[in-house]
Amino acid sequence: MIFLKNGTWIDWQTLEFKKTNILVEDGPDGKILFDRDPEETGNAREINCSGKFIIRSFANGHHHAYSALALGMPAPKKNPVNFLEILQSIWWNLDKTLDLEMIRLSGLVTAMSCAKNGVTFVIDHHASPFAIEGSLEILAQAFEEVGIGHLLCYEISDRDGHEIARKGLAETAAYLEKRQGLVGLHASFTVGDDTLKQAVALALAANSGIHIHVAEDKSDEDDCIRHYQNRVIGRLESAGALQFSKTILAHCLHLDDHERSLVKRSPAWVVQNMESNLNNSVGVFTSKGIGSQIMLGTDGMHSDMIRSAQAAFFAGHNFDSIDYAETYRRFRNVHHYLSENGFIGNGANNLVVLDYDTPTPLTSENFLRHFLFGFKASDVFHVISGGKLIVENRNLVSVNEKEILAEAQVQAARLWKKMK
Ligand SMILES: [Zn+2]
Repeated sequence: MIFLKNGTWIDWQTLEFKKTNILVEDGPDGKILFDRDPEETGNAREINCSGKFIIRSFANGHHHAYSALALGMPAPKKNPVNFLEILQSIWWNLDKTLDLEMIRLSGLVTAMSCAKNGVTFVIDHHASPFAIEGSLEILAQAFEEVGIGHLLCYEISDRDGHEIARKGLAETAAYLEKRQGLVGLHASFTVGDDTLKQAVALALAANSGIHIHVAEDKSDEDDCIRHYQNRVIGRLESAGALQFSKTILAHCLHLDDHERSLVKRSPAWVVQNMESNLNNSVGVFTSKGIGSQIMLGTDGMHSDMIRSAQAAFFAGHNFDSIDYAETYRRFRNVHHYLSENGFIGNGANNLVVLDYDTPTPLTSENFLRHFLFGFKASDVFHVISGGKLIVENRNLVSVNEKEILAEAQVQAARLWKKMK
């Protein structure tokens, strides 16, 4: 147990402030107990939080740990000119080269970065077409070594042939037998009808949901119309993929009005990834007609959810009806997605202690303006995940960060050399 002494608590839902002492219990169902007497905290580890703010930690609705070793990678020989070429020359080249050791280090460095940014839970979408078997368990263990909660899936796709799609389904089925997770699909344009049908059947049998990229680029819709005489959401709905409250639709940029109404009527969730969309020049997300079940993600760009929320607002408010409160609501929606679907690792005992030096008062009334214009990842001072201290004074305490970074550099060099 941890005893947070003399901090200022900010309720993540009501934004109420109060000076308090908090006792943090361990474990997946661990609670937080307010106004505890310092004399009655037993052998809890005491952390002085005076002058600091304590709030619920953060979570990422759509991430790709597998891309972690791409940071600074040499550019492809031919400069990609559209989204499909970006996939073919960068991401599908990288993911085909990954082996299990590279995946382990990708998971570890992603989890470390999440931890230092105050993100204690990650919904991840993994791809490694030539190292599928066991890849999800390796990622899960890497996240757990650092102390990060996870909801993983394998990105099943026919883009490398039916045999590899079959292996993706088998890996997913084996993983879902022992752990919480989702049934991942790459995107409509790389998933044939047979694979889509099997994925939905697996999600149904395992009481899970689908996690898929949807209309990230206009080409996904064009392909769907050409091959299936349907638009992407219509195709997914017909196949049964939208029936699950666990289903996650990443991006949803190029939906027409009918598709938007289908998403709104379904129990599925949408994840907005503003910086990735800007980077890939694929368009800008708008929530028009799509309903309120929208979360935020980073799409593998980085692991900083404060930055992701700020980008969602700064770029988004030019195109979308998104104000300060709506940005924060989307930023926090991931907790509702996780708890309403009964996933573990999202309890009250996931906290960040912020060392936020501000030249102006921070209060309940102006919290949202500080959140969007003042907060930054380096304000994250301590991080508690599942009741355990994983970051202390901005340093990881669950793992040896320097050693893992050195190992990752070796694996990154191997990966870059092996890539064609
Ligand atoms: Zn993605």
